Amino acid sequence: MPQPKKTIPPAAPEKKPEPNKTLELVRRLTQTVGPSGYEHHAALAAQAELAKHADEVRIDKVGSAVALKRGCQKGPLRKKILLAAHVDEIGLLVTRIEPGGFLRFTEIGGFDTRVLLGQEVWVHPVSRHGVATELKYPGIIGAKPPHFQSREESDSVIPLEDLYIDVGMDAGTARQRITVGDIATIRAPMVLLKNDRAAGKAMDDRACVAVMVQALEHLRKVNHSWDVYAVATVQEEEGWGCLGALTSTYNVRPDIGIAIDGTHADMPVAAEHETFALGKGPTIAMGPNLHPAVVERLKQTARDQEIPWQLEPVAGVTGTDAMDIQVALEGVPAGLVSPPMRYMHTPVETIAAADIDRAGRLLARFIQDLDDIKLEWQD
Ligand SMILES: [Zn+2]
Repeated sequence: MPQPKKTIPPAAPEKKPEPNKTLELVRRLTQTVGPSGYEHHAALAAQAELAKHADEVRIDKVGSAVALKRGCQKGPLRKKILLAAHVDEIGLLVTRIEPGGFLRFTEIGGFDTRVLLGQEVWVHPVSRHGVATELKYPGIIGAKPPHFQSREESDSVIPLEDLYIDVGMDAGTARQRITVGDIATIRAPMVLLKNDRAAGKAMDDRACVAVMVQALEHLRKVNHSWDVYAVATVQEEEGWGCLGALTSTYNVRPDIGIAIDGTHADMPVAAEHETFALGKGPTIAMGPNLHPAVVERLKQTARDQEIPWQLEPVAGVTGTDAMDIQVALEGVPAGLVSPPMRYMHTPVETIAAADIDRAGRLLARFIQDLDDIKLEWQD
């Protein structure tokens, strides 16, 4: 008798993993264009996300996106806290169009020039209002191939002056469509890694704009008395100062200002004492740039709420918005909270969603408990 054929049950359809909400927010914020001085689109994206949880939003005179979430305090003398995360990214500026149609460029902010070679870029013509237009041209960054390099050249990093953007156009067409002063950004879609980690451009510091969005979202569900100004600040990467942090401190006149900016995460070739574990919580910085009462309260809040955190001692300037906040006006008590990021200032800056979530929760709870904070210096 013939054996009945065994039927194999059809395989269950593979379940698509739910996209991580935090990383989707980070993706929306990081994929917009916004090198320092040309942040308009990035600031609008930040404004749209902050607006979901704020009472008021606006773009200020220098281009920062300012969101206000009012506290429940009464009266005209209102206590205010400023949160600042910079919205600008590092980018490239076209300085010359060569006879062959190749574009020479310089950096806006400090790129790791070793990683520029072979990158795909978008070249964005800039409007007469100084805004990157919707129009963009694909290009790649080329340089002399190893075959033509002297021994000395192949042993050293190719200097920025020897790199160029190839947009595939002849000089005539390139000069018609692109002008000196237009900008370029690295074309790097966000890559999802395992364990809710992600890599991409502009994580520094738009992942921290996401922290502010989350902090406001938490605060919507609770009572808090202080007014909260969350500002996506412009022009932090310039190197000469943190323009958006400075101007918004004057504008808001806060009682406390907290910068949120990435710190270096652990990676194989970096010294352990200079980096912080990715995925083990944001760092709370301490040192001369930060007010001890703010630092202490942040630490206490993290402990009380059982939020994983790491202590980051910074002996000198922090190189963040906290520098300008601290010395603006008659001086503002400053704090700094930093999610660790790997490969800073490359197109694959890497974050862990958990650190972004924890930083958002930490700031929300810190703000909720501000009523009894004492900022006077004491023994
Ligand atoms: Zn930064």
